[in-house]
Amino acid sequence: MSNTEQTLSIIKPDAVERNLQDEIKNEFKINGFEIVKEKKIHISKQEAEKFYKVHETKPFYNNLCAYLSSGPIVVMTLQKENAVLDNRKLMGATNPDQAEEGTLRKKYGISIDKNSVHGSDSNENAKIEIDFFFKD
Ligand code: ADP
Ligand code: MG
Repeated sequence: MSNTEQTLSIIKPDAVERNLQDEIKNEFKINGFEIVKEKKIHISKQEAEKFYKVHETKPFYNNLCAYLSSGPIVVMTLQKENAVLDNRKLMGATNPDQAEEGTLRKKYGISIDKNSVHGSDSNENAKIEIDFFFKD
């Protein structure tokens, strides 16, 4: 039985700044993800605040939104079976120091805030996040 899903991935400013987008996109491809949609954009602080609204009560919210809007990002929809969970596994733990060997955040992340990639955490949020960046 197939369970094809889509998830939203973002290559964050720290990785784009280091010109890692092709290397990271290749990681998705060799791990079986199809990049269905893709665009490089530079969002405003207000857009970042909307995207990360779920975190608005967190002490790191302001820094997080300032950071995501600090430079260009690459947003993508990734497709494969179990895309949401498999992308979270490929990314690794939020804090690169705690991420497993071989994960994207272990390989490329600099710190908990500059952790190189975002990935949706559920199918419900994947749909919301894909709509946020790719509606019409
Ligand atoms: P994830 O990106 O793994 O889903 P969260 O949704 O919890 O993690 O947090 C969103 C982003 O906020 C993280 O990717 C990270 O960049 C940042 N963040 C999370 N926790 C902290 C923290 N304690 N201090 C600073 N930044 C944080
Ligand atoms: Mg999250």
